[in-house]
Amino acid sequence: MPVIDAPDKLPSVDRLLNDPDVIALSENHGAALVTRCARRVLASAREKVLGGKPFESRDLINHLHEDVARTLRPSLRRVINLSGTVLHTNLGRAALPRAAIDAMIDISRGASNLEFDLASGKRGDRHAHCETLLRDLTGAESALVVNNNAAAILLTLNSLALRKQVPVSRGELIEIGGAFRMPDIMARAGCKLVEVGTTNRTHAIDFEQAIGPKTALLLKVHTSNYAIQGFTASVTEAELANIAHAHALPLVSDLGSGSLIDLEAHGLPHEPTVREVLNAATDLVTFSGDKLLGGPQAGIIAGRRNLIEKIKRNPMTRALRPDKLTLAALEAVLRLYADPARLTETLPTLGYLTRDIAEIEQSAAQLAPVAQAHCKAFEVSVVRSKAQVGSGALPADILESVALKFSQPAVRRPGKALKQLAKAFRELPIPVIGRIDDDAFWLDLRCLEDEAEFVDNLRQMTP
Ligand SMILES: *Cc1c(COP(=O)(O)O)cnc(C)c1O
Repeated sequence: MPVIDAPDKLPSVDRLLNDPDVIALSENHGAALVTRCARRVLASAREKVLGGKPFESRDLINHLHEDVARTLRPSLRRVINLSGTVLHTNLGRAALPRAAIDAMIDISRGASNLEFDLASGKRGDRHAHCETLLRDLTGAESALVVNNNAAAILLTLNSLALRKQVPVSRGELIEIGGAFRMPDIMARAGCKLVEVGTTNRTHAIDFEQAIGPKTALLLKVHTSNYAIQGFTASVTEAELANIAHAHALPLVSDLGSGSLIDLEAHGLPHEPTVREVLNAATDLVTFSGDKLLGGPQAGIIAGRRNLIEKIKRNPMTRALRPDKLTLAALEAVLRLYADPARLTETLPTLGYLTRDIAEIEQSAAQLAPVAQAHCKAFEVSVVRSKAQVGSGALPADILESVALKFSQPAVRRPGKALKQLAKAFRELPIPVIGRIDDDAFWLDLRCLEDEAEFVDNLRQMTP
């Protein structure tokens, strides 16, 4: 095998492309793509040689194969979420139910009645497809679906409070992450934030005093991702609604997650349902489609018809409207709620949140020896862990769970080895995402869907 130890021993791009092995690559994947890869591989080979690192000419072909494979791999890929956070924003939040996936496939295939009324043969309204279901499930007079909850808040404030004042409790001026800060969103919506109360305590009287002739509405924000504990006070939706209505103002509540069902009935901590909040005389609520609801990315505005009509007339509604695939998926998910008794089976998010600990334990016991066989440098044990709902829902509450824990008890500073292990899991054909904590690498098994797939995947682990 010829050794390449000087730049002039490197083949030209043309010669590399004419290697029989490479010709096959070009035939399969197109000459343009393979030529681009060949240039890249030769350039990095030249640097290597100049850096005093010789290699065999066969390596060049292997690197080209790898580079082509890397180029062909989609950027957006499915991963296995064993992070211990069920609704992980960076990992795409809710897993969609089969019914929603089928609906998206069906609608994506061709034409649909997205904005076409089949009864009259006239132009229809895309917002009508989910509205009746949302009304039935929440008790709202009307509902509107937009791109996400951030868009729902932006649009609501811009439609109802442009150039006017909006009082918000100082304890609710939250940052959700990813540059979503309530004060910034309010500024972009064109309304003026009036800070009310203090960080830990806000009283009804504070709101009373903040209301003036320029006030447009009162806003309550679910403090999703943090909890203020100790000496605290906040004003409930019912009290706020009283104050707002006494001044002929609407009360808007950003619920963040906004559950449609009573989670306590499933042994989970209480999260206010959309219906409860609307029953407390809140005029409009906004919430996400891909948090506790378990659907696609969407933002839902529900409540009084006259307010929703006003929002619909805002030209920004057009810019923030959902596409047909989102609507197809959301409608299918909402239909599942018609049979709440079966939701733990039909809706993956609820399935993960309510999964029996004994079942997770059994899965862990089966997988631990397999994981041990592929990660010999680590001690793999089955341990109790704490999983969380994520996406700001039920912030202070944590789910009992079970994890595979990879540790090196004899090593004093295992940090580097743990990072390498986490990387090896991310480099599997289906990347596996765990977490490093407490001098160990953890794979929380609460959200593991398919054990056989996980084992197959693990076989590709390079030690
Ligand atoms: C998550 C969240 C948002 C943002 O919702 P997206 O659907 O991510 O746009 C806004 N407000 C609260 C309280 C939230 O929890």
